Amino acid sequence: ELYNKVLELRGNIRVFCRCRPLNAEEIKGGATVALDFDSSKDGELTVMSNGSSKKTFKFDAVFGPQVEQADIFEDTIPFATSVLDGYNVCIFAYGQTGTGKTFTMEGTEEARGVNFRTLEKMFDIIKERQTLYSYEISVSVLEVYNEQIRDLLVSGNHPGMSARRLEIRQAGEGMHIPGLVEAHVNNMTEVWEVLQTGSNARAVSSTNANEHSSRSHCIHCVMVKGENLLNGEHTRSKLWLVDLAGSERVAKTEVQVYPNGSWFIVNIEDQLFFTIRNSKLTHLLQDSLGGDSKALMFVQISPNENDLSETICSLNFASRVR
Ligand code: ADP
Ligand code: MG
Repeated sequence: ELYNKVLELRGNIRVFCRCRPLNAEEIKGGATVALDFDSSKDGELTVMSNGSSKKTFKFDAVFGPQVEQADIFEDTIPFATSVLDGYNVCIFAYGQTGTGKTFTMEGTEEARGVNFRTLEKMFDIIKERQTLYSYEISVSVLEVYNEQIRDLLVSGNHPGMSARRLEIRQAGEGMHIPGLVEAHVNNMTEVWEVLQTGSNARAVSSTNANEHSSRSHCIHCVMVKGENLLNGEHTRSKLWLVDLAGSERVAKTEVQVYPNGSWFIVNIEDQLFFTIRNSKLTHLLQDSLGGDSKALMFVQISPNENDLSETICSLNFASRVR
């Protein structure tokens, strides 16, 4: 039964693989690139070792280091449409720390990421549909760190300051966090403000920002209420945008403990849905994973040969999910 559930989930997940460029330090140090993107147009990526090809992986899309934010977003557009059509959608970035998860999801002011672009696309579609549908959009931004939920839209809500502890409650079919700020947004100026508030709150959250972001999940939840103006029909859907904690943090030992056949599920549970058992994040995403909801995973990787073992771990994992 559990296996069927996983298979069902598999069909609903698209997997995009994105590789960051070598950084200045790596180039200066003469780092070797261990990946071949020649067939990336066909969704293929080949891992090299000592100059010869070792293994080829296939994904729904492969984006090499040169591919820009806007081009990556092109392939993400259908998910923005789905949310407005009433589907629950989850887009998340998975991978080792430093491989570009935050770059893909959040991006920078000059090179905006999936979070901003998805909302921008949604507002475009809302405008196109305005004679037929009316929509209300609100956004929450939260962080899960050490199994604690922090509202990133509440100013001064740092860990260590006596922040209100938020809890997840079952509410009807879905999950609800009483007290979580839901910022109503009417346009992209307001969206940008909300995204910035969340991002700044995350940045000041720790003396060691890197350490903190590698252990925490940053989650944007976009809530959509739609009304069909012709027949009065209502839809409610959610878009989850998740910047996961670094995959290297996740214990891999448990995978080997299980007998043949079940390791795959264990792997999924422990890695992808992030310690799916007893995890705050899992509870939260429960109604947006499986069923007729849609998911997109960015598996983020490094091109550096020195990172090859982590890269292969991430690629192996991602190709099994698909
Ligand atoms: P992660 O969130 O996975 O730890 P980051 O998103 O912080 O990784 O990326 C690490 C560094 O690499 C950042 O300085 C980021 O700007 C840079 N980077 C990542 N991906 C790209 C890319 N595709 N193009 C340019 N710079 C990138
Ligand atoms: Mg990050």
